[in-house]
Amino acid sequence: MNQVDYLRISLIDRCNFRCQYCMPEGAEIDYILQQQLLTDVELLTLIQEVFIPVGFTRFRLTGGEPLLRPHVVELVRAIASFPQTQDLSMTTNGFLLAPIAQNLYDAGLRRINISLDSLEPEIFDQIIGNRGRGKWEQVWQGIQAAYSVGFDPLKLNVVVIPGVNDHEVLNLAALTLERNWHIRFIEFMPIGNWQLFGDRGWVSSAELRQQIRDRWGLTESQVCGAGPADVFQIPGAKGTLGFISQMSECFCDRCNRMRLSADGWLRPCLLNENGQIDLKTALRAGISTAQLQEQVRELLAIKPEINFKQRESGTEGSYTRTMSQIGG
Ligand code: SAM
Ligand code: SF4
Repeated sequence: MNQVDYLRISLIDRCNFRCQYCMPEGAEIDYILQQQLLTDVELLTLIQEVFIPVGFTRFRLTGGEPLLRPHVVELVRAIASFPQTQDLSMTTNGFLLAPIAQNLYDAGLRRINISLDSLEPEIFDQIIGNRGRGKWEQVWQGIQAAYSVGFDPLKLNVVVIPGVNDHEVLNLAALTLERNWHIRFIEFMPIGNWQLFGDRGWVSSAELRQQIRDRWGLTESQVCGAGPADVFQIPGAKGTLGFISQMSECFCDRCNRMRLSADGWLRPCLLNENGQIDLKTALRAGISTAQLQEQVRELLAIKPEINFKQRESGTEGSYTRTMSQIGG
């Protein structure tokens, strides 16, 4: 079992997009109220006085859309300044990125993943459920800004939905030919929009690799990420291709992460709510950070059991929240 030293922190559950695969169409989302969100001070206290002492050294800021969080640059600066922070990254939809990419970099953010599910603006608009001109272009500007500021590696996340964007796989993969980018194809999971999943299903990483192999050939990359992606490369390409295959392959035994929701719940497994602890309520009730460390250590100790329980019992029925609510 991997050492669990990586925390994905949801800064906010709200989002300026409404991606088809992430949020159920038309459904009311039960957003966390402002006063229930962890404050900046609470979040930094938990990181510095609870997570770092129990061994977490790598942090990813996510959401919802993390760039909607007020003071996001200051939060990045504070987390980056902890001497124990070995890695600080962010997953964003990129819409608000261009004007603050440099500030984020200067504050200490070094790695960024940007979601880009389509190279075709019309399809992009359809996916993000947010009609209006120029959305794709603004995200593309965010990607360009991140690239020119020096984020390395620059990763683009693509969730492949049959009949929506699966015809673009080769075009997306071709971005790596001339650019040192990492395009990561993520298997669509039945979290968030069950109906879409039921109607469309998902495409396996093996099928995508076959398409790419047939066009250009494909080799396993020497670059080996610390995360769940299997990394490949088109021969001679500057960038790499990652495949995240949580549907076709169980990688629970490689899991090295926990998730902290924007309202302070610590979750040991994306797909299983068992064991989660409410750190915010404990903190507000005056429980000491030393006691909270103990609770987190206990959760770490039972995490493998929780992961494997999920695998043995199947996953259906356990996704009661969307990725934007959990902190994807
Ligand atoms: N808003 C940011 C973004 O979209 O990059 C960060 C949060 S989002 C929940 C994090 C990641 O989860 C995105 O890459 C998104 O594509 C992925 N995601 C959301 N719902 C998913 C689903 N049902 N299946 C697979 N990936 C999903
Ligand atoms: Fe928002 Fe990200 Fe979910 Fe899309 S995937 S709706 S950008 S949280």
